[in-house]
Amino acid sequence: MIYLLKKRLNESEKDGLSKKWKEQGISIYFVDVEKTILIFEGNISPSGLIDPVLIEEIIEINTPYQLANRKFKPEGTTIQVGSVVIGGSNLTIIAGPCAVESKERLFKTAEIVKQMGAHILRGGAYKPRTSPYSFQGLEEEGLKILAQAREEFDLPIITEATSPENADIVAQYADIIQIGTRNMQNFELLKKVGKLGMPVLLKRGMSATIEDWLNAAEYILSFGNFKVILCERGIRTIERLTRNTLDLTAIPLIKDLSHLPVIVDPSHGTGLREKVIPMARAAVACGADGITVEVHHEPDKALSDGPQSLYPDQFRKLMNDLEIISVLTGKEIVKHHVVREQIFIPAQNQTSLSPKVAFLGKSGSFSSQVARKIFPDSSDYINCNSFRQIFEEVVSRNASYGVLPIENTITGSIHGNYELFLDYPDVFIVGERIIRVSQHFAVFPGTTRENIQVLFAHPQGFAQSSRFLESMKNVRIMDVGNTEEAARRISEFGFGGAGITSQEAVEKYHLTVLEEDIEDNIRNFTRFIILSQTFNPSIEDDKVSGVFILKNQPGALFQILKIFADAKINIVKLESRPIPGKPWEYLFYADWEGNIIEDRYKKTVQSLEKHTLFLRILGSYKNIWKK
Ligand code: PEP
Ligand code: MN
Repeated sequence: MIYLLKKRLNESEKDGLSKKWKEQGISIYFVDVEKTILIFEGNISPSGLIDPVLIEEIIEINTPYQLANRKFKPEGTTIQVGSVVIGGSNLTIIAGPCAVESKERLFKTAEIVKQMGAHILRGGAYKPRTSPYSFQGLEEEGLKILAQAREEFDLPIITEATSPENADIVAQYADIIQIGTRNMQNFELLKKVGKLGMPVLLKRGMSATIEDWLNAAEYILSFGNFKVILCERGIRTIERLTRNTLDLTAIPLIKDLSHLPVIVDPSHGTGLREKVIPMARAAVACGADGITVEVHHEPDKALSDGPQSLYPDQFRKLMNDLEIISVLTGKEIVKHHVVREQIFIPAQNQTSLSPKVAFLGKSGSFSSQVARKIFPDSSDYINCNSFRQIFEEVVSRNASYGVLPIENTITGSIHGNYELFLDYPDVFIVGERIIRVSQHFAVFPGTTRENIQVLFAHPQGFAQSSRFLESMKNVRIMDVGNTEEAARRISEFGFGGAGITSQEAVEKYHLTVLEEDIEDNIRNFTRFIILSQTFNPSIEDDKVSGVFILKNQPGALFQILKIFADAKINIVKLESRPIPGKPWEYLFYADWEGNIIEDRYKKTVQSLEKHTLFLRILGSYKNIWKK
């Protein structure tokens, strides 16, 4: 039972009340937040003895943990750390080494995780090691290095306090104090961080029940510190093949029981590097507000927890996976200041943090979602009316980048866009991005299926929802230029207007959704490519796109395939199309693994040139869907 009082009481009023209750043999507890919260010893709820004029609201709670109970804050808690928000619709990524080992080594990992999109940097300075003979951490020196990394990479930092004594010094440096599994019920430490009032990440004790854990959180909350993030990190079970058993059931349970954000640590939860990615994916799929994951630039040389630390490339892959999975739980990996992918090529004129980006349609179109995901908030957007205009903006250098859909998993390649490359030989592919496309059947508010007069959609929207369209008899169908426009036209049409559009556009124009996810197959993804005139191929690229025309002779295609086979290069896509204006002659569009810098790849391109009538490399970039 929580009593919210109408106003903050002064000390003498509090003392008076305490005394009155003490006479009844009952202790009372005050928690000062905006108002004073009053909680009775043993969670009893005595009636009659409290002056009703004092009370604004009584929240009935029947668990021993009171303030941690969701009933206290049904809307959920979000916690702001610098510019990062934990909880709500955010999927927060904490990454870094297990321990701070040296400035040089922490900086290397920090740079990597920052560039790949992590929001918060982790690293232990006080290490609670199972063996007294293991590396114990750099202590205050480690905290100083973390603070330097925060400045250098503009990342908030989280690090562990292992005792009430070192909590003070940790608090001087850290943005979030971590309480480790071994200290979950170190009540003096919990009280200490409660008093400190700063954000706390409370890991679940390895032998603690969920209720024990929430009660531990309650200790911190009871000091008026509501900035508590829970972290499931695996518990001890009979299983011996993993370091711990990651209890993911805890996540949906906590979501019901408590308003506190809850994140998952798949590194300690498994202890096995190769199992970190699948469990991190599962954590996000079951509703976690984020993950904390150990990443090291050289895991094999790490001073602690190397075997469970991800290699940088694995972390990159994980970020991509989480981006896709987060769609399912309505969460988003918010970007901070820098792009997540290295599509800002470090050329003189490309370092701007406010690039101009051209895409089809306005905010609410699928292209705009991609642009927002990749480019910084400070970007300037150029809204285009056609795909050709995107190329024009890039060629004239009005835009540094263009965002162009190229392929959909239901409808296949968007051939017109491939063909535009033939008209613009100076435009290259420098990156790619995949988003899940979910098409909704939306109407002007008040309209029902029976009184629909017109159905607006982008041709892609119609094509991806062909089965749904079969059910729409006797309705006038109108093609529009993009997904956002479909929603706008419904709204302009008024009553009787309907269409196929995105969630974002539905919200923008306050439409009503009659049916969600009407696409023929729920696994509906669109691949977008990033265009630029500045092409700086890198050895880090792992995908090349090209277009060629075969010689008109027997075995010509076989010859080309043999070049790839001999070089052991994997072709990931091959498609042929009529050459515009040349009846019965064909172009081949191909994507293959590799780059165009390394010798063996270069030689392949040279052989291709020799054995084709025409060859153009369209771009080289990072494969976003790499298995
Ligand atoms: C850590 O995060 O480095 C750590 C020691 O975690 P845990 O307390 O969960 O073992
Ligand atoms: Mn560790």
